[in-house]
Amino acid sequence: MQAKAYAKINLCLDVVNKRADGYHDLKTVMQTVDLYDSLTFQIKESKEKKIKLTSNHPGLPLDCRNLVCRAAELFMKLTGICLDIEVHIQKRIPVAAGLGGGSSDAGCTLRVLNRWAGEPLDWAYLSVESKAIGADVPFAVYGGTALVEGIGEQVFPIPKKENIGLVLVCPRISVSTKSVFQRYVLDDPMEEKVLVVAEALKKGDIRLLGQNLFNKLERVTIKDYPLIGEIKNMLMNAGAFGAVMSGSGPSVFGVFPDLDEARKAEQNIAYRLGRSVRTFCIKTVEGVIYEQ
Ligand code: ATP
Repeated sequence: MQAKAYAKINLCLDVVNKRADGYHDLKTVMQTVDLYDSLTFQIKESKEKKIKLTSNHPGLPLDCRNLVCRAAELFMKLTGICLDIEVHIQKRIPVAAGLGGGSSDAGCTLRVLNRWAGEPLDWAYLSVESKAIGADVPFAVYGGTALVEGIGEQVFPIPKKENIGLVLVCPRISVSTKSVFQRYVLDDPMEEKVLVVAEALKKGDIRLLGQNLFNKLERVTIKDYPLIGEIKNMLMNAGAFGAVMSGSGPSVFGVFPDLDEARKAEQNIAYRLGRSVRTFCIKTVEGVIYEQ
């Protein structure tokens, strides 16, 4: 059984509060995009629990540090079903890039196992329980477009009018999400701007969306990597309505009027930045993204 695990971007990201447990409450609009890992599953019921992972990516942990393994463990715990599972992870989403790749692999694993077992758990329950794996997993169970709050466990789907052409630029750098949050200094919340982003998506107003993109974590990551600021300028000069960093970085994306414009901009930036980045011309995709 094969399935696609799609990357996400954060169209806006507000840090609302620092909690006593060290986590931060966020208000963010997450969006699934057409860049994906391919997961191939072999699943059988078994007396003994077995999880075997393989991957084309040499740096990926293949034990229970991998979020696919944690998702499989969680599914077995929630259902009481004992499985022998083999999963091959064909990684395309850059790792530790702010694109939620590991979380998406976990969300995909939960959907696939649940489907395989005849849907014993409903998706809302799976999504809520999946926060035990990681903060971005509850969104990844659904995908699509959503306002996400708390540490990531509250997911409110946003109806979106049309798909959007994007250029994604990923510097070949890994960023530690933990270190970015540790250095983040709280300031005034930007609740109104989050609402404008949600409204722009509902109306299909891509210009308004582009003008209101923001990410509060950007200033922390840019201090370490000024290239992020340079990429934002390049995207704007190439005709983007707006450009911003995704998650804790270092990936940056620009929102373009259409895919043709995005394609031209991507070629131009890929040529100028060469091997220091990976570039993708992609569009947004809808939720419910399970595929055989
Ligand atoms: P986050 O913001 O959750 O830290 P990210 O989106 O920036 O994540 P990921 O690609 O999810 O980045 O990788 C973060 C870390 O998770 C990596 O250091 C990696 O070793 C670990 N990891 C565990 N499982 C996976 C997986 N299936 N795919 C990618 N990374 C994984």
